Amino acid sequence: MLRDYQLRQREYLLEISRAITSQLDLDAVLRLIIQYAVEMLRGRAGLIALRQDDGSFRVRATYGLPAQLPHLFAPLFADIPRRLEGTDLARWTVPDLEMKLALVSAALGLPLRQVVALPLAIRHSLMGMIYIFRTEGTAFSLNDRQVLSSFADQAAIAVHNARLYEEVTREKRRLDAIIANSGDGIMILDPDRRIQVFNKALEAMTGVPAQEAIGRPCDEVIDLCDREQGVSICEAECPLKFKSPGERLYIEGDITRADGSVITVGIAYSPLFDDEGELVNVIANVRDITHFREAEEMKSTFISVISHELKTPVSLIKGYASTLRREDAQWDEQTLRDSLAVIEEESDRLNQLIDNLLDASRLQAGAFKLEMGYVALDKLAAQTVEKFRTQTREHILSLDFPPDFPAVRGDMERLRQVLNNLLSNAIKYSPQGGTIRVSGRADDDWVYVAVSDEGIGIPKEEQEHIFDRFYRVESSLSRRTQGAGLGLFLVKAVIEAHQGRVWVESAPGQGATFVFALPRN
Ligand code: ATP
Ligand code: MG
Repeated sequence: MLRDYQLRQREYLLEISRAITSQLDLDAVLRLIIQYAVEMLRGRAGLIALRQDDGSFRVRATYGLPAQLPHLFAPLFADIPRRLEGTDLARWTVPDLEMKLALVSAALGLPLRQVVALPLAIRHSLMGMIYIFRTEGTAFSLNDRQVLSSFADQAAIAVHNARLYEEVTREKRRLDAIIANSGDGIMILDPDRRIQVFNKALEAMTGVPAQEAIGRPCDEVIDLCDREQGVSICEAECPLKFKSPGERLYIEGDITRADGSVITVGIAYSPLFDDEGELVNVIANVRDITHFREAEEMKSTFISVISHELKTPVSLIKGYASTLRREDAQWDEQTLRDSLAVIEEESDRLNQLIDNLLDASRLQAGAFKLEMGYVALDKLAAQTVEKFRTQTREHILSLDFPPDFPAVRGDMERLRQVLNNLLSNAIKYSPQGGTIRVSGRADDDWVYVAVSDEGIGIPKEEQEHIFDRFYRVESSLSRRTQGAGLGLFLVKAVIEAHQGRVWVESAPGQGATFVFALPRN
């Protein structure tokens, strides 16, 4: 008889632990536990209540009771301490349990006569309570309590597991969200460098959708290369292939995006090892450093251009000034005039360069404003041509505008600067002289102004670059002439600020024609 009883108890407990490990949801496990516990103890009904974060109890599983009236059980949970330190759990009893049972039984209208209650606790932290009720017969014995305690233990384990699982899932969800929404590109690789995770920022950066990236080797998806040297960095210096773990794993390189554009990225790899020291994952942080790279290149170009372009006029000024100042020399009128003229010209050039630099940095800072008014480009062109006529003897400057040439809305000083830059280029880059023609025409929507020369011209492949900041076409002439490579950059910026366009038509040795178009309204 007793053997039978013990066998059944063992069977029940086994089934419960199977239910716990098979990841059934917590409520199903608790229902199983309360049902078996009631059966084992030959009770009539039972319930399991769990303590919530706020300390109150909530009925989570019932057997043989009207579950829809959970508040009626509330008296059972009064004055139950949060922790049961120093108490012998096997002997601990709920204070005034008999009286509470009477209250509940009256409220429910059920003849509950006997009750046994045990805490669900792990390491003395109380997670809930289990109650078994009888409607008749004898009071629960010490043995009943012992049997019940094994069920209570199982229930405590189930609750504990469920809470841990919940916490882990929550934590995982949080981590997933952090990775997915991180502003940096993140990918997680398996030990064979296959992509397991490819976050949103990386999708945006590379133009490759995550579904396409996942499962493929990382160098197939992000093929880092050095654009200038034309070598694959993945092949040459993949840190995951060559470096021993623990070293700082960082590489920089260019990647060609899905749409063909190129960006520069820096990738930092953090290997992740398990307790045995086996590589489990590599987390790669990908950052778009295109702007830093560009800024860095710009800075070094800037410094070399400035040092060169500033130094030349300054040393000329200094040279002439100290020659003129020599106390042992007497200078005739003509020499004095010529020398002072050079000093003046070079000062103008310095001034011009500084203005251009300021404009360029204003542009970069976005603080470039136009003062709009009506501008008669034909008059402006005439004034500019007049000014340049005094500066050159080798060139014929001609002006060709129709008499009814329309005025446009624009910033007169900025447009004067445009004409100045185009004319100064036309002169500078036609050292053999020739005709420089400034002409205008208009259609319904646009006015066009063209500046053409008969100089050295510009090769096709250079034409897209000459409007870039600090860009100069490499030639023996450009090495001999001064220039920061800012003139056309500013021309383009000014014209585009007017919603206009500027372009060049040219071939080497055939002169160049720069045209800008401004909207008529
Ligand atoms: P800066 O104008 O700052 O003094 P720069 O004249 O060299 O210097 P840009 O005016 O921006 O710079 O011109 C860029 C480059 O385009 C020049 O260095 C030159 O190589 C080429 N270029 C410009 N205009 C002409 C032209 N009319 N004929 C031939 N090449 C030209
Ligand atoms: Mg120029």
